[in-house]
Amino acid sequence: MSGCTGCEVAIADNYAGLLTLLDRYVDWVYDLTLADVRHIPEMDVALVEGSVCINDHLSVEEIRETRERSKIVVALGACACTGNITRFARGGQQNQPQHESFVAIGDLIDVDVFIPGCAPTPQMIRNVCVCAYLLLKGNDDQKALAGAYLKPLMAAAKCDPAPTGCGHACGCDLIVGVINQGLCMACGACAASCPVRAITMELGKPNIDRELCIKCGACFNQCPRSWYSFDVTNQYESIMETIDAAMAP
Ligand code: SF4
Ligand code: SF4
Repeated sequence: MSGCTGCEVAIADNYAGLLTLLDRYVDWVYDLTLADVRHIPEMDVALVEGSVCINDHLSVEEIRETRERSKIVVALGACACTGNITRFARGGQQNQPQHESFVAIGDLIDVDVFIPGCAPTPQMIRNVCVCAYLLLKGNDDQKALAGAYLKPLMAAAKCDPAPTGCGHACGCDLIVGVINQGLCMACGACAASCPVRAITMELGKPNIDRELCIKCGACFNQCPRSWYSFDVTNQYESIMETIDAAMAP
C-alpha cells in the first residue's frame, strides 16, 4: 500500500535468516517489491505494508481483495497499523499530488495481527513468521510459547490493549498503559516518533501535550513496553530459545 518500503527492507534485513525463513517456513507467493508477482493469489498469511489512500480506488480494491484471499492479514509496520506519518498527507506529493487522504488498513478491513514499529525490527518479523508456523505445526510446548508471543499482537489488532478503552492507540494509552504502570524505561522512542512533537522527555519520562496529540498511534506503536503482556515477559527466554532453535542451521 502507501509507505516508504522500509518495512519490506526490514524483512530483507534478516539477511541469511531470510533464506532460512523462505526455505523452512514461508512459501513466498506474492510481492510487488521483493518478487515479480503481480496478481494476488489465495494466501495463508498476507503481510501488508503501508496505509491505504482512499483517493485511489485501485488501492481500496486491492486491500479488500487481499482480505478476501487471505486467511490471516498482518499489518506490517506503523503505517499499516495506525496510519502513522501518512495521516499527515494533504496532497501535493511529488509523484501522486492528487492523493490526499490515507487510512490504516484496519479502517477498511478486519486485521488479525499487528507488527508495530516504523519500521518493525527484522527480528520481530522473523519471530512472527516462525511463531505462526509453530502455532500451526509445532509440538505442544512450541504451540504454547508461540501462542504467548502472538497473543498481544493479535489483541493489538483488535485494539484490545488500549487501556483508555477509546479503541485507538494514542498518547493517552501511553500514559495509562505504560508510564502509570511503572513500565517506562525512558528510552525516548515515543518522543522521537511523534510527528507533531507532542512528547517531550522531562526528568527521564515522556510528557505528552494532549492539545497537540492527533491520536496517530505512532508513540504507542514504537514503545517497546506497550505491547508485551507479563505472559511474554515471564517466558521471554523460553520463547527466544524456541525461535532460535527453529532458525538454527
Ligand atoms: S502523542 Fe504524538 S505520536 Fe503519540 S498518538 Fe499523539 S500525536 Fe501520535
Ligand atoms: S517509548 Fe515507552 S519505554 Fe520508551 S520512553 Fe516512551 S513510554 Fe517510556
